[in-house]
Amino acid sequence: MKTIISRKLKWMKPYLELGMGFIPEGKKVTRITAWTFGGRYGKKEIAAILTNDEKFYRIYIHTQYHPRTSKAVLNYSKIDLLQHLAHEMAHMIEIEAHTPDHSKLEARIHAAFMSELKREGYISEEDELEFKK
Ligand SMILES: [Zn+2]
Repeated sequence: MKTIISRKLKWMKPYLELGMGFIPEGKKVTRITAWTFGGRYGKKEIAAILTNDEKFYRIYIHTQYHPRTSKAVLNYSKIDLLQHLAHEMAHMIEIEAHTPDHSKLEARIHAAFMSELKREGYISEEDELEFKK
């Protein structure tokens, strides 16, 4: 089964595959959906994961945020977005709770993502976002 990924987050596909190396066999992400800021899911949520059966998961990730100090709507960097993906993927083992084990798994997945991001030639958040503001 292929994962359906929003156009804005299509670049995450290799990261999803990399992250799946940390997840037990038999679990699958069926969908990754990009939320833009101000969606009907509320302002505080930055990402979410849903499952009915602890086998098939849907992940939602906000691509923008609203800083407290300004009215601007800004894009999250790839580092942020991959942190959110790592966080939600770590919930594929413990869906409900933010346990120390959940955080450790999130950190391991995120570290793998950062190695890959660096290998791709990513320089910095400043370098990435300068062009989009
Ligand atoms: Zn969480």
